[in-house]
Amino acid sequence: MAEPDDNALVEARNLRVEFPVLSGLLRRKQVASVRAVDDVNLAVRRGEALGLVGESGCGKSTLGRAILHLIRPTAGTVLFDGHALDTLSEVAMRRHRRRMQMIFQDPYSSLNPRMTVGEAVAEPMLVHGLSDEGDSQEKVADLFRTVGLDPRMMTRYPHEFSGGQRQRIGIARALASEPDFIVCDEPVSALDVSIQAQIINLLERLRGALGLTYLFVAHDLAIVRHLSDRVAVMYLGQIVEIAPKDEIYARPLHPYTQALLSAAPIPDRAVEARRQRTLLQGEIPSPLNPPTGCRLHPRCPKAHATCRAVEPKLRQLDGQRWVACHLYDDAPTTGGG
Ligand code: SF4
Repeated sequence: MAEPDDNALVEARNLRVEFPVLSGLLRRKQVASVRAVDDVNLAVRRGEALGLVGESGCGKSTLGRAILHLIRPTAGTVLFDGHALDTLSEVAMRRHRRRMQMIFQDPYSSLNPRMTVGEAVAEPMLVHGLSDEGDSQEKVADLFRTVGLDPRMMTRYPHEFSGGQRQRIGIARALASEPDFIVCDEPVSALDVSIQAQIINLLERLRGALGLTYLFVAHDLAIVRHLSDRVAVMYLGQIVEIAPKDEIYARPLHPYTQALLSAAPIPDRAVEARRQRTLLQGEIPSPLNPPTGCRLHPRCPKAHATCRAVEPKLRQLDGQRWVACHLYDDAPTTGGG
């Protein structure tokens, strides 16, 4: 068990998500299952932004969706504000759903092309009874202003907007149900670099102004750097390191985190030339047949015999740092394990 936290708004406990692998002419026969999220324990504290990073296909987006119960977990529990989501009645779940929202990588696919963007933003307010037809227009106009859009754009359709504007509409729609917690699933990955900074600044400003809590999913450590208070690193369905932002960037412990940071360019050429890199070998293995022991061992430059046989557990090294790596088996701990 890792990451018990008294100040958690959201907690994943031993969360597992498996997808069936189907075969046969009609693809009805299950021949195997892929464990996309494997026994994850993670807490997101009230008011914090927790960055969740890892390569494509590591399970981070699936974890975000499972935490919101947009994907039903195969095993484990998600606690939201102390309530286990899998035990809630339909009515209670609807009440909680209002408080948990998602911002998607591609807002265009989450917007109905036949609805005006004003209607799309009003919809969650009406569904959750936060507004009626009479005052929804004014509330939508306020939300447009909040996300930096001109309310006169409310009558237009999604295809009339640029990528950055559409992401602002996606953010307005997420805010419309007055949530406490938002999973931001690669919200800037599809945008130009100059627009990325604007959207990240907007999300940061909204967090302060509205007291939001974020799980910010990204494949790039540089993207989460500005926004996150802590960072969790995921590899092949498992969390391998969690640390406060400053510590993870200054002194990454896990070889996978070191490799992710090594891959990010440093603007200062002299520093770039001097720095030591950790490079991984080969490709990310299939989650259908993950390696024995530590899942990173076929790629890890620091692997040793134990790594091939024994799976390292996520251990708490001090009050704030958690790592799953045999290199730290003898390091002093302050709990967890
Ligand atoms: Fe590398 Fe071994 Fe640590 Fe896994 S447990 S990251 S293989 S050193």
